[in-house]
Amino acid sequence: MSLVVIGTMAFDSLETPFGKADRIVGGSALYAAWSASKFTSVKQVSVIGGDFPQQELDALTKNGVVLEGVQIKKDEKSFFWAGRYHNDMNTRDTLATELNVLADFNPVIPESYQDCEFLMLGNLVPAVQMSVINQLKNRPKLIVMDTMNFWMDTAMDDLKEVLKKVDLLLVNDSEARQLSGEFSLVKAAAKIRSMGPKYLIIKKGEHGALLFYNESVFYAPALPLEEVFDPTGAGDTFAGGFIGHLARTKDISFDNMKTAIVAGSAMASFCVEKFGAERLREINHDDIASRLQDFVQLSSFDISLV
Ligand code: AMP
Repeated sequence: MSLVVIGTMAFDSLETPFGKADRIVGGSALYAAWSASKFTSVKQVSVIGGDFPQQELDALTKNGVVLEGVQIKKDEKSFFWAGRYHNDMNTRDTLATELNVLADFNPVIPESYQDCEFLMLGNLVPAVQMSVINQLKNRPKLIVMDTMNFWMDTAMDDLKEVLKKVDLLLVNDSEARQLSGEFSLVKAAAKIRSMGPKYLIIKKGEHGALLFYNESVFYAPALPLEEVFDPTGAGDTFAGGFIGHLARTKDISFDNMKTAIVAGSAMASFCVEKFGAERLREINHDDIASRLQDFVQLSSFDISLV
């Protein structure tokens, strides 16, 4: 039984108020895989060009990420994205999105991935997300989907079809508002959940994340950090930690999802400390355990009513 992650593996050029990074490796599936692999092994589905560094692939393999489902188009260029963050670091402008190998990507799910129990549909063309769902012979126990405004602008109809097939959607607050047409996040959550997913997570950057299910809503804070260098990939890292924890414990109860949200938030707090996925590469289990304790300290308190 396994965790399958799909998404982009990319080159990113980033500008933050603290500096610039030119053509570093990134992509939704890269961040999600680094994060989830700290909890369990990962089977990756993506597409890259001949320009993607072999050492990056080797590092992923060494960390328990299976790359059999990653297509390499030797004569083509990898997906490229460029972004510039505003001073608040919570908002950013996309400066360029070059699909390159992604433009005609037809994922092929290897036979060895058919034991997929947990499926993470990372941010990617909705039609490709759908193709992966359709290729799995048995429906996974849990399908989690991430997406972004780019696909709402360019492929909304396809996106809505995928929504009907998934258990949980992850979006940030502005994407939730765009998808639902509602400003109130409570109304937005109800509307989005009526489109398909039983569960909805709305990420609010440095203000934490909300999990909606039936009439319940759970809030997990983000850790206040002294320094945030680069928020790129924080959402994908959150998603990887979230589903990585669920896949490791094989428990998809609402209570365990609350723990998974904290695991995702802890992983995202590491991601933003350095450019790209550098910090995720460095951390070990002790670092993660200690960060989880920080979250416990942050939000637990005693209260006595007189
Ligand atoms: P996040 O900061 O979590 O939203 O993710 C940023 C990552 O998403 C970057 O590494 C980009 O390469 C990747 N990315 C940006 N735009 C897209 C897109 N339209 N589809 C898939 N991945 C994207």
